[in-house]
Amino acid sequence: MHSHLENAFIKIENESNTLEEAVEKWSKIRDSLSLQELKERIIKAALIELFYGTTHIRVHADTCSKNLKSVKASILAKEELKEYVDLQIVAFPEQGIFNCSEEEFKEACKIADIIGGKPEADEDREKHMRLISDIAYKLNKRIDVHIDQHDDKSKDSEFILKIAKTKVALSHLTALHYYSEEEAKELISLIKEKNASVISSPLTAFYLNGGNSYPMYRGVTRIKYLINSGINVSLGHDDIQNPFYPAGNGDMLQVLWIAMNIEKEFSPKMIELITVNAEKEFGNKNTDYIIFDAENLEEVMFTLPSRREVIRNGKVVAKSSQETKVLDLNPFEIMRKLSNFHQL
Ligand SMILES: [Zn+2]
Repeated sequence: MHSHLENAFIKIENESNTLEEAVEKWSKIRDSLSLQELKERIIKAALIELFYGTTHIRVHADTCSKNLKSVKASILAKEELKEYVDLQIVAFPEQGIFNCSEEEFKEACKIADIIGGKPEADEDREKHMRLISDIAYKLNKRIDVHIDQHDDKSKDSEFILKIAKTKVALSHLTALHYYSEEEAKELISLIKEKNASVISSPLTAFYLNGGNSYPMYRGVTRIKYLINSGINVSLGHDDIQNPFYPAGNGDMLQVLWIAMNIEKEFSPKMIELITVNAEKEFGNKNTDYIIFDAENLEEVMFTLPSRREVIRNGKVVAKSSQETKVLDLNPFEIMRKLSNFHQL
């Protein structure tokens, strides 16, 4: 539900493991990539996600790229990929609206599907949020904003929820981790009142937050707490092998895996974070299927097996096969017998 594909697999070291260094490094090379190169990168990264079974991707495209190259490349990629993957394009101001070009941001909002934002990137956060909510209202588009994404108790989400007149998705919301119980309840009641949703990207949140000395906190939003409060929560991969996150391969089951571990929650219901909740957030009916080499859902969630086939609109669009043997035995059969998977 939340991806940056234009810079996927651009391997640049992030020495401080911080969002600030990642943005700085990306912004230095951003304009050296041509529209064609950006489009190719987006298409290839989306196809890798498709290999792992993702057929719907919300793409945050950087509106600070020169001449809106990232946004235009994403729109071209969306058209070329439509038979295989549905993309939604978000106009995302990585380095702010007023630090870059306000006019270009407005132009990007017209051609994108969703209005993005990142209030912390501009000096006047409230002005930033007022502008995106005004644009969203005028264009009758929803908002998906990178917000409260640090190890602090920032409350920009409260502000945007109070002023927005169209539907809001709060991406990251890691600050909620640090709120008191009373503060958390206040925000959650506002999220519910506004019928807003939350999108967590635990891989990047885990990597970029928490500093580099012990105790090393891990700023991921309260996924289970939000679900139990009746909020629609879905997960995003966010970044793949770039300065924002050095690992990952586009597999949403890996993202779910880390979320289950962080939340100490291994119930089969957690699959909804990347299935029905994501479908609700995306806003269209999913009719695609994945065939796994697994006996049941628990086995899928606990062992992340290969995707035998990905079926899109009734057609096989991705497949994988391998012979699985240890000596003369099938390792998965051994595992199933040992763990009584078949009895669940
Ligand atoms: Zn993001």
